[in-house]
Amino acid sequence: MSLKEWLSNWKNYFLTNFICPSNFQKFGILGVFSQKIPLFLKVPKVLQIPPYFKIPLIFPSQIHSDYVIEVNFSQLLKTLKCDALVTKNSFLFLGIKTADCLPILVSTKSKELIGVVHAGWRGSVKGILYTTLKIFLKEGFKPEEILVAIGPHIKSCCYEVKEDLIEELKLRFDNYKNFVFLKEGKIFLSLERLNLFQACELGIPLQNIWTSPDCTFCLNHLYWSHRFHKKYKKYQISFIGKL
Ligand SMILES: [Zn+2]
Repeated sequence: MSLKEWLSNWKNYFLTNFICPSNFQKFGILGVFSQKIPLFLKVPKVLQIPPYFKIPLIFPSQIHSDYVIEVNFSQLLKTLKCDALVTKNSFLFLGIKTADCLPILVSTKSKELIGVVHAGWRGSVKGILYTTLKIFLKEGFKPEEILVAIGPHIKSCCYEVKEDLIEELKLRFDNYKNFVFLKEGKIFLSLERLNLFQACELGIPLQNIWTSPDCTFCLNHLYWSHRFHKKYKKYQISFIGKL
């Protein structure tokens, strides 16, 4: 099955558009970011996509932590309280739900190890991406072999934050000023820069990192935005897998 066919299958399944980052496409990696999941649609735990069938799609129970769990088929029925999953298994899809937070997909060029990350401000400050990428390095992969894709999220144009958040950021990052912007007396945070910094700290080359240009708040007709839609919110899904 070609990547294009694969993508159109998912599109029909979820009735929404999917974006496959260019750095993943280049290596034939099956990883996507969705636009708005329709309000009426319940995301299934098992996907039936011809010619493959019954592929489990695992979502963690997201808790804004820096916990990463390596999953295999034995954990399918368990509740996984964490914000990142990694696996070496084929026919096991890893997903994440977001609406403003950063959905991040990680893969080696060889697809041997893949992962998903949910990085809101709490997870980003705790270093969830850093912790996940460390697992890839511990497994013996070189930084040049690792690809990172950051999906649509609330960007610094719209992500106004309070001073107490900056205080927390200061405790962990000496260079916090690189992630913060001031505009008309208000403070804006770039979660994208904060996460890019974590990847670059571990030596991942910038050319291995793809970032979506889309801001979920600005493009609230295409994406669910926690801040914009408030109680009517649903989410985007992002997932990655090997066949
Ligand atoms: Zn925006």
